[in-house]
Amino acid sequence: MRLVLLGAPGSGKGTQAQRLQAHFGVPQVSTGDLLREAVAAGSALGRAAKAVMDAGQLVADDTVLGIIRERLARPDADRGFILDGFPRTLAQADGLAALLRELGRPLDAVVLLDVDPDALTRRLTGRRSCRNCGRVFHLVSNPPPAGELCTSGAPHELFQRDDDREETIRARLEVYRERTQPLVEHYGRRGLLRRVDADGSLDEVQARLEAAIGRS
Ligand SMILES: [Zn+2]
Repeated sequence: MRLVLLGAPGSGKGTQAQRLQAHFGVPQVSTGDLLREAVAAGSALGRAAKAVMDAGQLVADDTVLGIIRERLARPDADRGFILDGFPRTLAQADGLAALLRELGRPLDAVVLLDVDPDALTRRLTGRRSCRNCGRVFHLVSNPPPAGELCTSGAPHELFQRDDDREETIRARLEVYRERTQPLVEHYGRRGLLRRVDADGSLDEVQARLEAAIGRS
């Protein structure tokens, strides 16, 4: 099973990727994690990537593709992979297609975790963090239990992080939508796109994902 997973911030993409990894026995390949690993290991690609990142620039597509190529050569990827965080542009999608064609391992599907922006904004703007213990709650779905005290012995002191403010969330979603829409259309034209409704519990969304992948 060879997949690309696309999803907005807050869509639960990371959690679902881990669940798919456990369910299908194929690794989640996160290009962000791979870059950090390569830099930490000091490989030739890692050193090249570090020099670019230290200069405050984006790592070149060829470098990322080289890192993906190395990752897919590991034995645990024999049965497939779940690519997370790549591609983000049409040029990267073309580069990925060329690499996978060369390896004789084309994509089976591109899964989009589809969220209603208003529902997602409501969900994320309900988040509150405790100033003292750092725990994250939700005003509606996960409030602090009545009478529960924080580590200090006083009640939790909840506040809203800047990241969770409505205007910040809407701006991030807009950036995501603009950047992802061309990929959605690109993979749609190739018959690879599977849309999965990502509103619901983790279990509900996982069941929809597995059904969508099973049809591909
Ligand atoms: Zn607390």
